Amino acid sequence: MVNAELCTTMSIAKAYSAQGASSPLAPDTIERRDPGPHDVWIDIAYCGVCHSDVHAVRDEWGGTRFPIVPGHEITGTVREVGSAVKRWKTGDRVGVGCMVNSCRECSACREHEEQFCERGMTATYNSYDKYGDRSLTKGGYSTHIVVNEDFVLRIPDGMPLDRTAPLLCAGITTYSPLRRFGVGPGMHMGVVGLGGLGHVAVKIAKAMGAHVTMISHSERKRADAAKLGADDFLATHDPDVFAHNKKRFDFILDTISAKHDYSAYLGLLKRGGTMVLVGIPEASPLDAGALVHQRRQLAGSLIGGIKETQEMLDFCAKHGVLADIELIPASKINEAYDRMVRSDVRYRFVIDIQSLG
Ligand code: NAP
Ligand code: ZN
Ligand code: ZN
Repeated sequence: MVNAELCTTMSIAKAYSAQGASSPLAPDTIERRDPGPHDVWIDIAYCGVCHSDVHAVRDEWGGTRFPIVPGHEITGTVREVGSAVKRWKTGDRVGVGCMVNSCRECSACREHEEQFCERGMTATYNSYDKYGDRSLTKGGYSTHIVVNEDFVLRIPDGMPLDRTAPLLCAGITTYSPLRRFGVGPGMHMGVVGLGGLGHVAVKIAKAMGAHVTMISHSERKRADAAKLGADDFLATHDPDVFAHNKKRFDFILDTISAKHDYSAYLGLLKRGGTMVLVGIPEASPLDAGALVHQRRQLAGSLIGGIKETQEMLDFCAKHGVLADIELIPASKINEAYDRMVRSDVRYRFVIDIQSLG
């Protein structure tokens, strides 16, 4: 196991936390361990606001430990490194995504898929850091964070820290299944849900050379989808859309955050086509016939490993992929959550951490 030293000295970070599922996020102060030999202290510049933060803060998945400091789309600069750290130095532009540790020994970790660590990865927030200082992890809605060196990502030169922050979750969560299922030229794919994940998915899929149709639940985002690079647009508020577009796509990426009928979307797939779920809404209906009759496949995908996250950042740097963001002060976070739930985000809120003071 790595970095099991227990730390006794601490620093104080300013943060936004929620005390309970029905409490708003409010200013707070939290403790961060002093960097151990393998740790990196990062001064946070920006933190993206993922819909998973909303699910967690409102305890929609169960299991939230309060008080919670969310945030797993973190960018900033290295202030200080531990005595054994060779790869990072003061001033480096870096990011942290959804994980801050894992066992490094199990088959998943050895295969660079730490998100599936068989002993449980340490999430950036709402996890006990059993390989570090054993405290409850607290995320990026805060002025600094201390992270094991192996879970730090390099932000390529030229990528702005604000528009890159959302790539640390939305980017890798969409890049990983697109790579895994071979999305590329000649493939007709649909992206369902034009939010944080969906808008990055369109950009990455276009950069990979696919023909991309945006599938949204209203007409409101039609013009934006075209600006983002989508080749076509379907609005599912009209139920006839499902009948008129049967068997159209080779591949669908479903990013919807709310309950919906998977079977309807499966009907849009060609024979043998694949739909990958990345959205994690409450239990949603599924009719086996929608899979069986056309030998379709339904899969899921969870973020991506650290190595693949770096690959995604380098891919995005090469292809000019950045998130479209609305920069907000931390004081606007509760309003931002409500707007996200209403699908009123274009297309990722990012907290300017300077606003925490
Ligand atoms: P988001 O920005 O809020 O986008 C979600 C989109 O879903 C909305 O913009 C909307 O798009 C669509 N939608 C919302 N309510 C809907 C409804 N009632 N019916 C149909 N469509 C609806 O959220 P996000 O940050 O992209 O996250 C999306 C989901 O992915 C969340 O459940 C999140 O927890 C999950 N997630 C999973 C992973 C993973 O590793 N698998 C990682 C990150 C996030 P339109 O307006 O275009 O219809
Ligand atoms: Zn996320
Ligand atoms: Zn492991």
